[in-house]
Amino acid sequence: MATELDLPTVLFLQKTSYIAGAVTLGYLRLSFSGERGVGLLAVSFLILAAGSTLAGYAELHPALYGVLSLINIACAVLGYCLLSAAFVLVSKPKRKFHPWLVFVPMLGVLFAGLVTQFHLNNTYRAVTFTSLGFLAFAATAVVVMRDARREPLPIRKLVAGTLAATSLLSLAMAIEFCFNTFPILGIVDGFSLMIISKFVLAVSIVIFISERQQTEIRQLANRDPLTGLYNRRAFGEIVPSSLQEGDAILFLDIDHFKQLNDHFGHAAGDQVLVMMAQAIQSTTPSSALLARQGGEEFVVFLPAEVGDAKLHAERIRKTVADLHFPAIASDIKVTISVGIARASRQRAGLSEVCRQADRALYLAKTGGRNRVCDADHNTLQQASFG
Ligand code: GH3
Ligand code: MG
Ligand code: MG
Repeated sequence: MATELDLPTVLFLQKTSYIAGAVTLGYLRLSFSGERGVGLLAVSFLILAAGSTLAGYAELHPALYGVLSLINIACAVLGYCLLSAAFVLVSKPKRKFHPWLVFVPMLGVLFAGLVTQFHLNNTYRAVTFTSLGFLAFAATAVVVMRDARREPLPIRKLVAGTLAATSLLSLAMAIEFCFNTFPILGIVDGFSLMIISKFVLAVSIVIFISERQQTEIRQLANRDPLTGLYNRRAFGEIVPSSLQEGDAILFLDIDHFKQLNDHFGHAAGDQVLVMMAQAIQSTTPSSALLARQGGEEFVVFLPAEVGDAKLHAERIRKTVADLHFPAIASDIKVTISVGIARASRQRAGLSEVCRQADRALYLAKTGGRNRVCDADHNTLQQASFG
């Protein structure tokens, strides 16, 4: 690979792009207040810019070469550590973070420089910060991908890929500096690619935060905050408005829930809602859709292929009746009533089937509660109590 650029031009580009990146990220830090990592990335860019500025001065002022080159390597090491820390924090903002850890490698380098004077040798200096870059970027790429298990954002692949590529680039440069021969990259090409990788990282941190915010907005719009189930709005959006023949809708309503709240308190009522939501979710087939309709009412969409809706409804009713709630006295049984309606060729509209299911639920309530009532049969299905 060959480039038209010369080294001073590349160093100038490096310095100015770091400063531009730092200013942009600094602005974003203010507008994304509360997002950890963006400010740190801005600071890392500033420190890297300071490092490359000092490297230039060191060459121009031989009398200050020792001190400036030591500060240069310290800045490079600190900048890389801050950059890595920024992505580790953005990847998982709730991570426990010890800021002083970021300074340890820099202090180690300063100490080693003062003792051995290794920084006076350009090759040693270059090998030191490229090797550190290789380790820091590789470790950060692993962390970003491991956090995908908890938060699988698509941008993680770009961030981890760029970090891994930057890590390999650093390794290639470290090897070339070490043997003082540049068959693959050359110094100018290596530094140019480094500038590009930092640019991609700066852009990707913005996409990262934007993807996270979009996911959070979707979560807020579609999920019930107490139970984590889909809410009524999402249910209406996900379930087709025109159902297939045999698709069923179940309306579930907790019996005498107001009394539970009155006797054991609102927090106990909340616990019942949360545990019940989990139990119903684990009892419904994976192709079904469960949502909290509102208050103490749930709704289930059962596609025709899951088989007899009444059997599923009975299983849910029984699962709930067998639950024990720590916040409720053990001799109190918490039950639900269920109304079922199915779509047919004549009645395929979701809202019409829901109306029928609601009517069946009313019949289950008036018929004595803790039972399943099927709108199609229009008779009360007596629950097999116990
Ligand atoms: P029925 O058997 O006829 O359904 O009687 P019920 O007491 O369950 O029904 P009612 O509609 O009279 O009362 C519903 C209660 O649900 C009243 C309300 O305070 C309570 N509720 C609604 N949302 C929540 C919630 O998020 N948490 C708690 N703890 N209670 C809630
Ligand atoms: Mg109700
Ligand atoms: Mg109720």
